[in-house]
Amino acid sequence: MPVIGGKTKLLGVIGHPVEHSLSPVMHNAAIAALRLDYVYLPLPVTPENLPAAIAGFAAIGLVGFNVTIPHKQTILNFLSEVLPVAQAVGAVNTVWRTDKGWSGTNTDVAGFLAPLQIRYNRDWSQTVAVILGNGGAARAVAFGCAELGCAKIHVTGRNQTKLEEFKASWVNSNLNNLQVHTLEQLPRLIPQATLLVNTTPTGMYPKVEESPLSAATMAQLPPNAIVYDLIYNPRPTQLLRQAQQLQLATLDGLEMLVYQGAAALEIWLQQPIPVDVMRQSLEA
Ligand code: NAP
Repeated sequence: MPVIGGKTKLLGVIGHPVEHSLSPVMHNAAIAALRLDYVYLPLPVTPENLPAAIAGFAAIGLVGFNVTIPHKQTILNFLSEVLPVAQAVGAVNTVWRTDKGWSGTNTDVAGFLAPLQIRYNRDWSQTVAVILGNGGAARAVAFGCAELGCAKIHVTGRNQTKLEEFKASWVNSNLNNLQVHTLEQLPRLIPQATLLVNTTPTGMYPKVEESPLSAATMAQLPPNAIVYDLIYNPRPTQLLRQAQQLQLATLDGLEMLVYQGAAALEIWLQQPIPVDVMRQSLEA
């Protein structure tokens, strides 16, 4: 175990609540494996305390921090630099200190893409992506699909107004192949979907028997489809079990969680990160 001493550098995650966060476990495991004098702490911060907390972090020389619910958008007001990926997604999950103040980015896009590219290295230019849900994670996924060069990106949801707002929010971006659809359109979209991504919480613990799609709808997926569920509890989800029964390729949310964390740690530590150590710490 690393010893916390007078020179130990500080990292952490801000959120409200933050007790459930798995980030301290995986970051401290990587820090220990690298034998560095850092510690990563859960930092509970309520919305009204955010300005005081950020000023305090500067005062005590915190090196950087992750940002989770409900601060992912409001943190933008406290940053002197926001990287283009975070501007496009409209949310920041990783912040670090520079001479000019705090800088921020969004590593969810890198976290979503890394397992796809590492495990399923293919030409994505013919890929038709179908994204279930149109919330915060769907924004990172849609941007990631554009980065991959997917031919089409279909975002589906249950609320027409939210879908239209989602579409409108990308008007000044390069996501010109993005279309939005209500759930009634899914039977038409699924037979084309070579990358299906669930960004809804349907199937998450404790409702582990639920799936966003019926077995009959899933059976319409093409045989070369990859099914990617952002949920990491349970593993696998009912959706991924359905996909496995159809012998389709699958990815679960633990991979995205690990790789978004590794991308943040790499920014703070400026060295290669032991991704396997982070994954094993979460599995344990
Ligand atoms: P969010 O902003 O609340 O968005 C959730 C989306 O799912 C919304 O479009 C919502 O629709 C839809 N939805 C919720 N319940 C539904 C239901 N019963 N049927 C159909 N659609 C439903 O949440 P988020 O931050 O995007 O997170 C979504 C999921 O991704 C969570 O399970 C989260 O744990 C997971 N996630 C994983 C990672 C990772 O690293 N693995 C990272 C981020 C998120 P309405 O807008 O109509 O309510």
